[in-house]
Parts: sequence; C-alpha cells; structure tokens
Amino acid sequence: MQHDASALRTALIGQKMTRFETSASLIVKPKIGRTIEELRVENRCIEIVWDDGLALKTKMKVRGSWRIFHDGEKWTKAKKLSQVIIGANELSVVCFGASEIEAYHDFDLRRHPMLGRLGPDLADPLVDLNDCVDRLLNYEYPDETIAEVLLDQRVMRGIGNVHRCELLWACELHPWAKVSALTVEECLELVSLAAGVLRGNFSLASAELAVYGRHGKLCSRCSGQVRVTHHGEANRVLYWCVDCQTRHTDVTSQGNVIKHDAPLGVHPAEHLYLSDLAKVRKSV
Ligand SMILES: [Zn+2]
Repeated sequence: MQHDASALRTALIGQKMTRFETSASLIVKPKIGRTIEELRVENRCIEIVWDDGLALKTKMKVRGSWRIFHDGEKWTKAKKLSQVIIGANELSVVCFGASEIEAYHDFDLRRHPMLGRLGPDLADPLVDLNDCVDRLLNYEYPDETIAEVLLDQRVMRGIGNVHRCELLWACELHPWAKVSALTVEECLELVSLAAGVLRGNFSLASAELAVYGRHGKLCSRCSGQVRVTHHGEANRVLYWCVDCQTRHTDVTSQGNVIKHDAPLGVHPAEHLYLSDLAKVRKSV
C-alpha cells in the first residue's frame, strides 16, 4: 500500500489531468485540465485532490490496487475491471478493486458555497474588478494571510491553487502577508492579473509556471530558492520563492509558522510520503 502511494505521488502530483473515466456514479467529477495536487493515504483509503479542491476517495479491498501504465503499454489487468482511469503525463493511473468510490469538494468553511454569498466570478468579463478589490480591503479577518484569502470564494471566484501560487509570485507578495497590509494598488494588481488569466487574456501553461511544482529549483526572477509547504485550514500545498516574494514580510501573520516545509533536494511527493509514514508509525 505504501509503495503504491509513493509511486502514485510521483506519477500524479503536479501533473495536469488529461483523461478521467470511471464506472462509478459520482455527484461531481474532476475536470480535465486541472492539476493533481495531493494524494493522501489513511488505512486502506486513497484520496486524490485536485487544485480546485475536488477530492476523489477510493476505499480499497484487500486485493484492490491503483496501478500505473505507460501509454501504449499492455495492461496487466482487464480494462473492464477498471473502476477509475486518470490520464496524466503519458500515463494511465488505474484503480482496480475498490469497495467504495466517492468524490466531493474538500471541506473548508470559507470555500463552501452554502456558507455565505459567493463573490464575483473573475472569469465573467462583466464583473467589476473594483468590487473584488473592496472585498479584499474590507476582509472580515484582517490578520488572515493573503494566501488563504485568495482561495476564499466569498471574495472572488475562480482562483485555484496553481493560480494562487503564481499570482503571489507575480506580485512579489509574501504568502503570509496579512491581507490588511495590502495597499489598494496591490489588491488591484492581484485581481487584474487573476482576471486576465481566468478570462484567457494570457495563460499560465505548465511550462511557464514560475513556482508551482518547482520545489528546490531556481527562481527565474532572482535565482533564489523555490520552496513548498502546506498552508491554511485546508492544508493546501503552497509554493513560493523565499528570496523575492518579500513584500510585507514585516507584517506576516504570526500564527502561520512553516511546519511542513520539505527539505531541499527532496521531491515534494517523497516528503509527503515520508510524512504519512511517520503518521502511520505513530498510530501503530
Ligand atoms: Zn525569486
């Protein structure tokens, strides 16, 4: 099981999904083009999380497994037995022998659409960006980090985790900067950039990503270090450049100490795997 998880992480994390098929009836389905962000393992459950917060949980039977096949490779099990097929990076990652399969949005109070009115949809060209700027400036929790607030769907809709990391880098903002420290101009810059991406005026294609998925690599702007950690209530992965994302470093939120920063030279997937292993060992 642990070996499965490690191999799955290496195959999937940070990759854009190109195919999704399932024999299960799901209420919500992961969207093609979304980036696979995390893989969590607990007992016999494997949970895959996409960058828009959608999670797919498979509870495996004793002989059940997720298997990885290269495109064109002959499968070692019959396709008709497959329950989920995820395509990414010229691989098919396939689930066999799950007793339960379900998909849902990761529960986070501030991202839950039923709890509070949703903010403007940035992808809508008719949306007034000044409204989003006002919502940032008047955010109800002034000590909250800008990294968290960008994912709050009540402020504005449409920013996924990949875009969050890239936007913060583009604006040179420290991810832990308190939202109340941002100026009007900085809020407008963030919102305009986000809207530009979501409206298709320019793209953040995988090859062009500045920080997301680039842990331990050099920043293209300052040649500093790109790091990764977990952050916020939903514990989403966050990539940032420690050397040039320094705006408002002096007013970062004190409650957000980096706890899970992966050491340099360690692949994030490996780091997450080791974290899970430590948890499993503790619970034995
Ligand atoms: Zn940098």
